[in-house]
Amino acid sequence: MVRGRRGARVRPAEPHRRCVGCRQVAPQRELMRLVAEAGRAVQGPGKPGRGCWLHREASCAVAALKGGRIPRALKGKAAAPELPLLLEWMGLAALDGGGGSGLKS
Ligand SMILES: [Zn+2]
Repeated sequence: MVRGRRGARVRPAEPHRRCVGCRQVAPQRELMRLVAEAGRAVQGPGKPGRGCWLHREASCAVAALKGGRIPRALKGKAAAPELPLLLEWMGLAALDGGGGSGLKS
């Protein structure tokens, strides 16, 4: 029997998760968890069930929504939230502070 050396074991002190926006792995506490609830994606820090993770960054929110990655990550059990809502959950201000973006006439 060979005795394994344990010196090289590098174990993160905390769980890491993959962001559905930028696809990078990050410590769980840096990410926001979304879970499927009643057909919608909601914030679910401690909720059971299928979840996905997202940085609290607008760019990750946009990327996740653009690619339709939230519904996919939630196995189609929830529609993606709208961007302003996601940003609100992230603690980011809505883009201009106003609700009506993209109104052109
Ligand atoms: Zn990200």
